[in-house]
Parts: sequence; structure tokens; C-alpha cells
Amino acid sequence: MPNNKIYDQHIHTCFSDDSQADPEEEIKQAIATGLAGICFTDHNDFGYKQPDGSDHFTLDFESYLEKLLPLKKKYSDKIKVCVGLEQGLTVPAADLIADFDPEKKLDFIIGSTHVVDGIDPYYDIYWEQKSISEGIRHYFENMYDEVRTIDNFDVYGHLDYICRYIPDEKIKKDPRDFLPMDLISEILKVIIDKGKGIELNTAGLRRGLFANPCDKILNEYYRLGGEIITTGSDAHRPEHVGYDLDVAYRILAETGFKYIAVFTGRKPEFMPIS
Ligand SMILES: [Zn+2]
Ligand SMILES: [Zn+2]
Repeated sequence: MPNNKIYDQHIHTCFSDDSQADPEEEIKQAIATGLAGICFTDHNDFGYKQPDGSDHFTLDFESYLEKLLPLKKKYSDKIKVCVGLEQGLTVPAADLIADFDPEKKLDFIIGSTHVVDGIDPYYDIYWEQKSISEGIRHYFENMYDEVRTIDNFDVYGHLDYICRYIPDEKIKKDPRDFLPMDLISEILKVIIDKGKGIELNTAGLRRGLFANPCDKILNEYYRLGGEIITTGSDAHRPEHVGYDLDVAYRILAETGFKYIAVFTGRKPEFMPIS
């Protein structure tokens, strides 16, 4: 096994509607990069509608498991491969989310908010008739409901995802003054009380922005006693597997974290960062 201690626990494959990546190519890239382990986390979003009304991001779970589970064993002498999920969290889908994976085949579930009022803030329509502050606060108000209602996830994904799509280039680069930290603190407390964690996601770095969540939220999580944290590239292509995770590890170490959590069978194991 490689000496490198870096784990990438957020990777999409062709089972996500927004990726065409071959999972084996991603594993090969992870091995070539010297990663210690990876976890596939394809999208499943109940009730995700595109502006034209069409469904999106519904995972073919049976085929997904059939294709990916055998890869764990196939590459086990070279790299740790886990199979997880990025579950879109919404309160109306709470029952469906609770019943997901009843046979407990998955290693890890990231819970993410991609949809508010049925619309992804990626689309301009989300921001219509809202100031930037209102749009951001509304997103976190939804998250506060989601995190209290839903339990079937392990870490919250890219907690300030909304910031990637702020319709103002300057604020998008540094939205810290626009974050409702009172509300975000309450969300983090619920996450910690439930024994769950958050992830540090490097996709923002790839876009010239920052790792999500930003330092202000990460510091608050640490201050509140949050201990469970994972790292992920959110790769949708083989060449992005492991992207800037060394930077993520450095950020975590500078914040004060000593360990990252690596999930297997939905249980965290704590690995030293340095
Ligand atoms: Zn996501
Ligand atoms: Zn993702």
C-alpha cells in the first residue's frame, strides 16, 4: 500500500447524470497519484428538477452496486476502494432518504443540499427576486430543517455550496461577510450532536474559488468541537481525482484538526493528518 495518507471520499462516475467517468479509470488515476484510498459517491437527488421540469440525478442503485462493488476486491492489493453515495437532502424526501440502502451495502453517505424550493441555486432562477444575502440565508434555513429532520447520512457535503453560484463575481470570491453565521452555528451544532461530520471539498479550488466550506465555517466547526471531517475532490473526471487534497490537508492541519475520518461500512476510522 502507498505511504501517502491522502483519501479522496467524494468521486462521481458515469452513474451520475453530470459525469461520464469510467470508475476504473478513476481508480487507476488514484493509484497513479499515490492516494491511500477513494470512495465513489454518485448523485442521488429525489425531486431534483431542471428548469424545463425534467428529472435529474436519479441513481440506478442496483446497477451502481453491481458495477462498483466488485471493484473493491479487484483493486484491494493496490488501494482501498469504497462505495458510497452523495444523497441530495430535502425535507419532502425525508422518508425516501431514511429508507435508502436498507441492506446497508454502502460505506459512506454524504448528505448535500443541491435543491431549495425544487431549484438548484446553480440556476439563475433561484436568485431572481432575492438579494444575495436573502438567497444565501434561505439556503441555510432549508439546511437547518434538513439536518434536524434527516439522519441517513454521515457527513454534510460542501456546506456552503451556494457560494459557488452567487451571481456577483466579487462576492463569490469572498462571501464571508454574507454568511449567516448565527444560523450556520446552529446547523453545525445539530451535526455534531447527531454524531455526524462535514467534508472539506476541493472542487471550489479547481474553479479558482476556495475549498468548501470556507475558513470561517471550518473554524466555527472546530471551535464547536467538531471532530469528524472528510476530504473529497468532487471529481467528475479521472484527471480530477485527488485534486488539491494536499491543500485540503494543509488547511485542516492549520485549522487545528489532527485526524481525518475515513468511512467503511458507515463507520469512521480516524487517520492522522500528518
Ligand atoms: Zn454536491
Ligand atoms: Zn459531488
